[in-house]
Amino acid sequence: QLNIRNEIVGINCKVPLSNGKYVTAINFDNAATTPPFKTVINDINRFAPWYSSIHRGTGYKSKYSSRMYEESRETIMEFINANLNSDTIIFVKNTTEAINKLAHRLLPEKNKNVVLSTLMEHHSNDLPWRKRFNIDYIEVDSKGRLSIADLKNKLNKYKNSVRLVTVTGASNVTGYINPIHEIAKLAHKYGAEILVDAAQLISHAPIDMKPKNSPEHIDYLAFSAHKMYAPFGIGVLIGPKSTFEKGEPEYSGGGTIDIVTHDYIKWAKSPHKDEAGSPNIIGVIALISAINTLSLIGMENIFEHEKKLLNYVIKRLKEVPDIILYGDTNNYKDRLGIITFNIKGIHHEILANILSYEGGIAVRNGCFCAHPYIHRLLNINKKIIDERIKNPDMPHPGMVRISFGLYNNFAEIDNLINLLKIISNNKKYFIEKYNSKYFLM
Ligand code: PMP
Repeated sequence: QLNIRNEIVGINCKVPLSNGKYVTAINFDNAATTPPFKTVINDINRFAPWYSSIHRGTGYKSKYSSRMYEESRETIMEFINANLNSDTIIFVKNTTEAINKLAHRLLPEKNKNVVLSTLMEHHSNDLPWRKRFNIDYIEVDSKGRLSIADLKNKLNKYKNSVRLVTVTGASNVTGYINPIHEIAKLAHKYGAEILVDAAQLISHAPIDMKPKNSPEHIDYLAFSAHKMYAPFGIGVLIGPKSTFEKGEPEYSGGGTIDIVTHDYIKWAKSPHKDEAGSPNIIGVIALISAINTLSLIGMENIFEHEKKLLNYVIKRLKEVPDIILYGDTNNYKDRLGIITFNIKGIHHEILANILSYEGGIAVRNGCFCAHPYIHRLLNINKKIIDERIKNPDMPHPGMVRISFGLYNNFAEIDNLINLLKIISNNKKYFIEKYNSKYFLM
């Protein structure tokens, strides 16, 4: 039996409050990044004396590092049930790089140049597609859930010209978990492929890419290690080898070729063709360690624990005077442990700062790199957006987000609720104390 809190680095860090005292930090900002597992740091330290260049040396350490690097691909594939024969794993920096890479490598075919994204995407799964494809966005309903009816409409509208449906596994704003297999089945019916942005889902729920011949299989998956208790700088793009065998990589250089003359290039086989430059072996060691620890704890157990936290926090947030909760808070079986809110009369920026400086509680506020979704959830219309474009000094719209990790507990939620109640009951005092041009709403 693991004591999970003992497995996390920095769980007992003390942070300063506005009164000069120090408290143990509460981290409710796991959707942005997660603190590393101790096992991850230990495994990095254990490996450090042995690390050397990948595929670029004949020394023992170099060969050992190269073997660890290559063997890791299988561990990752097993974690998300990718197809060991037909899929490839490409190491990248993070989810953003993974999606940009796919947007570059997935060639628009004649009469098949539409990408269907959704209104709830992180900008990383929207902007890269705008460059080379005709993009359209699947709607969300009044509660902010993805509209499967609209997906069907759009597939019907564009028919076989849809190259890809690209959808987040779970929203980083509302935590909604999208029915990725149902979406995959619909996409495949129209001859389209599917990419799942798994940045948010990967460390909170089990993911199954399913066998290639299943109509529900996921063609492409992207995620970042820094959201799964490993450090920044390593991420993964998974997809069919056949996609990456075609075309040219967006970055070329060392490691990407078989033969080069001044007028000829023979590209290396996938995935090496897509991994230009010396690979990040320490990042890969960290990622594998994180996957092993997550598997040991059990993704189902993590999901269940965070679900309990969500149930509890939603129940308790409803006690806070003047709270506005976003997304469905009556029926929320399809939500991860992410919840966004505002308190009427306090700007989200001020509220987030008060939580930090009065309670040592780390949250995130703003638009969470998902402007179109936030505009929709806050009913911000085009006229207001146009005004903001003209006048950059206008206060930023947004919300406060709390997002759980597997180590958070009920006592931390109680601390949050107690402080939110105090803030809401003493708005004037706090607003004066944290006086800011942002006070609006
Ligand atoms: N997609 C989603 C849903 C995310 O939450 C994030 C990170 N907030 C990203 C993509 C981008 O991840 P990264 O910054 O690691 O590239």
